[in-house]
Amino acid sequence: MAVRERLRVLVADDEPHIGKIIKMKLEQGPFDVTLAYDGQEAMDVLEQGNDFALIVLDLMMPRLSGLDVLLRLRSDDRWKSLPCIVLTAAGEQQYQRRALEIGASEFLTKPFSPRKLYARAAELAGAGSENAEVREA
Ligand SMILES: [Mg+2]
Repeated sequence: MAVRERLRVLVADDEPHIGKIIKMKLEQGPFDVTLAYDGQEAMDVLEQGNDFALIVLDLMMPRLSGLDVLLRLRSDDRWKSLPCIVLTAAGEQQYQRRALEIGASEFLTKPFSPRKLYARAAELAGAGSENAEVREA
């Protein structure tokens, strides 16, 4: 059997405990998670040239917002089609629509279920169905 490839995921959220929860959950599966704590840091990490399979972006972050990062990604050939899950807080519905318009793959509203995030990440990053048991009914 082939060795399963580990997929790199970049998670950008200015609330460290959120990033930590996502990292713990995704690294139970075939993912290696890199954390960034604002949008500019996320861009800096991407510019270092690692091959990410997915980015998880909080909307409200210092320096560069999630929407700003998404706009940059979608106008750059390197990241035009990089799957992106946007995290929003309650009351940010207007930004959800905007995020989808400019190319978010989907969004999750906080507080979100780590299992649901895992399932979506696996789908979007093409991690296969081995972890199908984590899907929620
Ligand atoms: Mg935030």
